[in-house]
Amino acid sequence: MSYCQVIVDIAHEDVDRVFTYRVPKGMTLCSGMRVHVPFGRIHRMEGIVVEMVESCDLPPERVKDVTDTLEDYPAVLPHLLTLAKRIHETSFCTLAQALRLMFPAQMRGERVSNKTVEIAVLTVNPAVRAQVLAAQARAPRRAAVLKLLMEEPSGELPWETIRKQLGDCRPMLMALCKQGFVRLEKREVLRSPYGAMERLSAQDPELTTQQREVLSNLLPAVEAGKGAFLLYGVTGSGKTEVFIRAVRRAAQLGKTAIVLVPEIALTPQMVMWFRSRFGEDAAVLHSRLSPGERYDEWRRIRRGEVRVVIGARSAVFAPLEQVGLIIIDEEHEQSYLSDNAPRYDARELAHMRCEQEGAVLLLASATPSMRSFAMAGRGDLTLLEMPRRVQNRPMPTVHVVDMRRELGNGNRSVFSGPLLTGLGNCLSAGKQAILFVNRRGYATFVSCRSCGYVVTCSQCDVSMTYHSSENVLRCHYCGREMPVPHTCPSCGSAYIKYFGVGTQRVEEEVRRFYPDVSLLRMDNDTTRTRDAHATLLERFRHGEAQVLIGTQMIAKGLDFPNVTMVGIVAADAMLRLPDYRSAERTFQLLTQVAGRAGRADAPGEVFLQTYDPEHYAIQAASRQDYRAFFEQEMQRRKRALYPPYTLIARLLYEADREEDARREAQAAMRQMEAFLERRAYLRKYVVSLRVMACPVLRIRGKSRWQVALKIVDKPVCHEAVGKMSEIAKMPLEGCACICQVNPSSMM
Ligand code: ADP
Ligand code: ZN
Ligand code: ZN
Repeated sequence: MSYCQVIVDIAHEDVDRVFTYRVPKGMTLCSGMRVHVPFGRIHRMEGIVVEMVESCDLPPERVKDVTDTLEDYPAVLPHLLTLAKRIHETSFCTLAQALRLMFPAQMRGERVSNKTVEIAVLTVNPAVRAQVLAAQARAPRRAAVLKLLMEEPSGELPWETIRKQLGDCRPMLMALCKQGFVRLEKREVLRSPYGAMERLSAQDPELTTQQREVLSNLLPAVEAGKGAFLLYGVTGSGKTEVFIRAVRRAAQLGKTAIVLVPEIALTPQMVMWFRSRFGEDAAVLHSRLSPGERYDEWRRIRRGEVRVVIGARSAVFAPLEQVGLIIIDEEHEQSYLSDNAPRYDARELAHMRCEQEGAVLLLASATPSMRSFAMAGRGDLTLLEMPRRVQNRPMPTVHVVDMRRELGNGNRSVFSGPLLTGLGNCLSAGKQAILFVNRRGYATFVSCRSCGYVVTCSQCDVSMTYHSSENVLRCHYCGREMPVPHTCPSCGSAYIKYFGVGTQRVEEEVRRFYPDVSLLRMDNDTTRTRDAHATLLERFRHGEAQVLIGTQMIAKGLDFPNVTMVGIVAADAMLRLPDYRSAERTFQLLTQVAGRAGRADAPGEVFLQTYDPEHYAIQAASRQDYRAFFEQEMQRRKRALYPPYTLIARLLYEADREEDARREAQAAMRQMEAFLERRAYLRKYVVSLRVMACPVLRIRGKSRWQVALKIVDKPVCHEAVGKMSEIAKMPLEGCACICQVNPSSMM
């Protein structure tokens, strides 16, 4: 007798354990297979087998049979089962929730099915075809169907094709089937997301010296199936070509590869380009696929029909076997973190998957995350560098423009003199320009336009957030409040106000100076529809406009050969966000945006407008000096006790009525305090524990309160985070709660 342990597909704490079922005679079952089982009063419940067992201690009458299997193969591969267990242990979600990451959502509840087409197959022996056709002389439409099939070398045609050519001739076809001349078959077709894509030339360029050097480290590791690397290569250094060669080597060795890119970089152009190098061997997984396409791509991968999968964060769970290489491009991107349950970091999971499966991990960026670069410093990642651009194209020249001086000179426009001159030169040379507007941080902090002073919290090293409803400034790390000053505390100027410029304002200004210039604007308003983002970029690439105005959306890994000028309208906007990562994000963004200039032969110029030209993030970005930035930022994090030295965990309460959110948050706060009260060994690591209204008090009509814990990042301290997640799961009245660790936003 054999048994199996099943996780039922219910994401509730109470059933977050395995249940034992008997395997009926004649059923082949293994770990990772999806099954239907009777569960309580539910007749057919979906579940996943997580273990096969020989015996069972329960009395036989208490053990029920597995009803049936959903597929005849394991939907969750053994390594991915291990990964799911790991997520379950580290991210405070149920195993059922973690397992749901491993296959397309639509497979649950059988919401997608295979797409089939009907094929008419001629079954008449070639020798007697003429005879059979002649016998249909008195049924001309039947004869027409036969003739069409006979003209086809394969003797087969999809029913759709026959119908298109001959009109509705279904009865004739059925009659032919009855006579035994034709057979109708249902065949599966895979929905392809690659419809009408233009193909690029798939020629290999000759490698640069830098690329060769990096590959001479990487390829032997791929062969040995071991190693974890951080590729720090400046923008335009040719990292993508390194990826392609490494993937190809893995493929030559009979292994497979996963390439993760930020969702926003996964443009049709990028996909097409990858496909042009790997053809049918490549599969894509991203959020714009229809459920059917996603399901079919997933199965193509699962059946071992592809060598390389390219996709966003969740492609780290691609059901590939024999993984030899996982690449994470733009590894500093926040989008590799999934904040809400099940919370995970795709970089960490990729690392784990590589170690488990004997694969090489390659993280790559022009602006590596603090965490990865620190790991490289400790030797946990091997650092590979590409400090020069391909063909020794120069790095762009960055002009830092002090906007305080512009105001002093009487210029109140959003554009400085140098930026306008640069834009003029670029346009008259017939080149393209990008104007970058940092949308985030719009009107949330208060700064002085005369001296650049920003109101910051004396305790927390972040800017105070402006709350328009109450007209106060508040620090949302510690809750400190102060009134909005009318004059600058530093220089006395009256030009102190909320900061922020939008894309529309920039567009108006460009039109004021250059009424005839063609421009495209890319922001949340102009990219609402499914492919608007990609379409706009394509139009710009094809030279439909000379100026592109955009938000962060335009910063990511885009390669526009004709762009020679980049204007950064307000470099500080993000710097002043009340977030400990704002300096890191600013540096990354400025470096990436600046990297869009001068990618082909013409040199690039960047105008970086700022009210804080001395800030180390601005300074380092203007010199594209990653190392200088890294050193200073790590020191600051250590001094101010921010991650990676500490952990920040928060409970976020959302309710229709503010008093409900406040009441529950305060109750949670008391529980947390009581918990720490009894644990001196934890308490000594707590940097702060606070309850307060969120900086953005209402979102989509919900009022929000939070409990925020900052604690030194030691293994023992995870107990405190565990307690927070436990509190988050307790039943609440009129209120919802989630627990987040180092959330990507504290707003
Ligand atoms: P990165 O991702 O490092 O910013 P890319 O991979 O986009 O840089 O490469 C920058 C540009 O250089 C691209 O246009 C690419 O086609 C080109 N390129 C890369 N490698 C080579 C090479 N070996 N020879 C010629 N051009 C190359
Ligand atoms: Zn001032
Ligand atoms: Zn504070």
